[in-house]
Amino acid sequence: MKNSFIEILYKKGFCTKVFKHVRKLDAQVCWACDATGLYTKEGDLFLYDEECYRCKGTGIYRPAKTLTWFVFYFVISDQYFVWHQPQNLVKYSINLTDDFDTDINDTEVKPIEIPKKKLTESKALVKWFLEM
Ligand SMILES: [Zn+2]
Repeated sequence: MKNSFIEILYKKGFCTKVFKHVRKLDAQVCWACDATGLYTKEGDLFLYDEECYRCKGTGIYRPAKTLTWFVFYFVISDQYFVWHQPQNLVKYSINLTDDFDTDINDTEVKPIEIPKKKLTESKALVKWFLEM
């Protein structure tokens, strides 16, 4: 539901700002074989090595990868809403308002506390959306 909610708000022109957040994840070394690619098993008479079951002998459990999100800023009835959306879930064309990519690690994450009044307003927003 969040995906289509963001898409409708974007297409109806409520978006005031959109840019990309990227996060680069380093390769993750396999702990089962200690990055050797070989897993030592105990046979009847001796120990023997075979291809690591976890990393298929590569020594790398998860290759390095880059995660990308779009960050949408919406203003609805004078209220700001900011949502991150994974890039692969955005199937429509986006006009970035800021062409720089920010590292998500630079983002200050604040704890979310929602007063009861705000929660009521949020429910009203969802109700308004569902009735569109
Ligand atoms: Zn391994």
